Amino acid sequence: MSVRVKTAAERALRQGHPWVFAESIVKQSHLGSAGDLAVIYDRDKNNFLAVGLYDPLSPIRVKVLQARQPRKINRQFFIDKLAAAQEQRNPLISQGTTGYRLVYGESDGFPALVIDCYGETLVLKLYSTAWIVHLQELVAALQEALEFDSLVLRLSRALQSDRLNVASLFGLRDGQQLIGEASGSVQFVENGLLFAADVQRGHKTGFFFDQRENRQRVRELAEGRRVLDVFSYTGGFSVYALAGGARSVTAVDASQPALDDLQRNVTLNGFERTRVDVLQGDAFAGLRGLIEARRKFGLVVVDPPAFANRRANLGNAVLAYRRLVELALQVLAEDGILVMSSCSSRIGPDRFQQLVTRAATVAGHDLDVFDSSTHGLDHPVGFPEAAYLKALFCRLSS
Ligand code: SAH
Repeated sequence: MSVRVKTAAERALRQGHPWVFAESIVKQSHLGSAGDLAVIYDRDKNNFLAVGLYDPLSPIRVKVLQARQPRKINRQFFIDKLAAAQEQRNPLISQGTTGYRLVYGESDGFPALVIDCYGETLVLKLYSTAWIVHLQELVAALQEALEFDSLVLRLSRALQSDRLNVASLFGLRDGQQLIGEASGSVQFVENGLLFAADVQRGHKTGFFFDQRENRQRVRELAEGRRVLDVFSYTGGFSVYALAGGARSVTAVDASQPALDDLQRNVTLNGFERTRVDVLQGDAFAGLRGLIEARRKFGLVVVDPPAFANRRANLGNAVLAYRRLVELALQVLAEDGILVMSSCSSRIGPDRFQQLVTRAATVAGHDLDVFDSSTHGLDHPVGFPEAAYLKALFCRLSS
């Protein structure tokens, strides 16, 4: 189908922005269905601007695959993009890492899709129905471009909803094995440490690769400290803290299966389980309990889920972050280190830092932010909306 868009949208496409919103479309050749290739021409000279996936169910109506220079969208196109993405990640492999994000959506040329690599297993997660008609071609491209034994399909929450009927219309379900034998739990290495992840049922695709560099920093800071890992999930930070010589680790998470996996990850690396305490339950309540018990920690990591990925949640998210800082400071030893992380895309790095330091001031503490970080190389930020992660490493100033 061919599409014409408003001037501002034309400009954004020329600058490489990968989204065309429904309200920017002024003309389209026909109604179009999910996954149709939409070619966008400029209204002035009819020149090619971009080609993308038409997505009638999303406000991001065209998701750009290729801009500026026309290219045929076929298996070879996907192969080239996959090879480029793999090449960019190769430095990680030489650092003793076999688990990483291989494709991070738009920033790697695959809008609304991620591919995570867990050793010999790839996990493909779709966030749009527009990919479904291209799935076969994409899988064929994966087989040609990369080496792997097993491929698992994950579907975003929206794609799993009954309203979309993806299961009955296309026979696809979340956790489905597309290639190879299902094993449920897969093992991989991150910075030389061993982890197992449930790629069929775990959060996202099974593990949060985006925190790899921050976990490494925590490893370097953990020596001799009692560590508190709040929102621990399967213990990424906990295992690194143990590897860095932490005296003990206390992990808090709402999910019991995640905490079971955490304990398995601790044993996988040969650490004694007695160094680790797990508290299942709400993190806010867990922190209050630790405060009442007058517990103190030399390193506190707080890595909550995204409280604000929609503007409507912003107010509550800010309150939740403030509250977490306030609680975390009450369990922090005097010479302790606080690591505050946020994956809320609506709160940028500057705003997050301001929010955290102000919350500390209100609680009567001055925080010295001695280090901060954003995205690692397997989560490239190709356009502003791709940025979500930031972490602050803080000490109490005397
Ligand atoms: N730090 C982890 C990733 C955290 S993901 C890592 O490095 O791998 C966020 C986690 O928060 C999930 O495991 C989820 O189960 C947990 N969670 C969400 N809401 C919670 C709450 N209110 N209390 C405790 N845990 C919660």
